[in-house]
Amino acid sequence: MQKVLGSNSAVMKRRNRSLILNMIKSEGKISRAELSKRTGLSRGGMTPIINELLKLGLIIETGVSVTGSGRRPINLELNASGCHAIAVDWTRKKFTVAVVDFLGSIIAEKDYNFIENDTLDHIIKVLKDVIKEFLNKFKFNRIAGIGIVAPGPLDINKGIILSPPNFWGWKNIPIKQILEETFNIPVILDNNANAYAIAEKNYGREKKYRNFIYAVVDEGIGAGIIMDNRIYRGKGGFGSEIGHISIDMNGPKCECGNHGCIEVYATIPQIMRYINSFAELGIPSSYLTEIRSRRLIEWDDIIKGLQMEDPVCLNIIRKEAEYLANVFVTLINVLEPEAIFIGSTIAKAGSALLDNLEELISDKTVTKDIHETKLYLSDLSQASLIGGAMLVIQNFIDQGNFEDLVKAESGWQSDEIHYRF
Ligand SMILES: [Zn+2]
Repeated sequence: MQKVLGSNSAVMKRRNRSLILNMIKSEGKISRAELSKRTGLSRGGMTPIINELLKLGLIIETGVSVTGSGRRPINLELNASGCHAIAVDWTRKKFTVAVVDFLGSIIAEKDYNFIENDTLDHIIKVLKDVIKEFLNKFKFNRIAGIGIVAPGPLDINKGIILSPPNFWGWKNIPIKQILEETFNIPVILDNNANAYAIAEKNYGREKKYRNFIYAVVDEGIGAGIIMDNRIYRGKGGFGSEIGHISIDMNGPKCECGNHGCIEVYATIPQIMRYINSFAELGIPSSYLTEIRSRRLIEWDDIIKGLQMEDPVCLNIIRKEAEYLANVFVTLINVLEPEAIFIGSTIAKAGSALLDNLEELISDKTVTKDIHETKLYLSDLSQASLIGGAMLVIQNFIDQGNFEDLVKAESGWQSDEIHYRF
């Protein structure tokens, strides 16, 4: 009986630590009085937890804020150096490893560009070497783990990169197991759309949204979906595949087995295929005709053409907006998000894309007379790295399991986590 009570109390303690840390993180800075009001915890109940978090260096007290009654409570904020994460952004061309602090700032970064005939064994060895270098360099910092962002399909639960297309033939890479066995710290794998959504939720301009979709259009089409402030993953982590929403049941067969998926029509490589054939067909654009006489038209040429108001570039982005609007209307009707963010390569099309989308969506949703779903182009740079780091930092906060840290009264000692190189 005693044991059960003790266990419940420990669980409650961890939950309350997480609750308080999460609230401080989402608010940026918050007074004790406001924290008590927002969490429902009494001031007296919060005090030992706050003292513990201060002692561990996870939070700091800053400034004063004058209230109507004249009281001047000290605010609580996350301590930027209180916790760090290693982030890995593994793309088809390179990987980037970064060290990210508790506030989402990148404090160190290193790239490795893949070369012809690189083997997977060699890539993994270089990746381990870079991580090892950073862990040594930041050995006096608390490291929450390694967050890896890679192209899908992924088995997020087991941490395996399955079989991404155009991925040098590499597949079924148990990256979580490989890195956990090497470094003995938590490793979390996720796809870039989820990482972008998590970065936008934590550090974007519009942190206030609790329900939004982050749509990614580049070599593929995907999304990260935030529902009630949390990423939505579905049962096995394979949800959010908006690229496989069909916009024509009689359309071409997609590799998923369905017909007319938007990914068959509206990826960046598809746009490039259209525009290169349009130019060959002689649609009037002296700008594109001149480029096409020398080489294939590239995505950056379209972006430049939009700035010059080239008619063919404007038309192709209008067509892209029509495809995307079709899917966004469905998403708005099914999920009723507060906002949709559009990121990755397609976001460079800027207002030419956004204006068309707003026009095409505005009168087609069930909620059109009730409230508007805002559309934004995402301007977060390095969202993959920040989102990747946030995977493990959020996990660290949510666990609330700082018993070992509390025991080490003098603060964090890197020796305690026993890296195995
Ligand atoms: Zn499909």
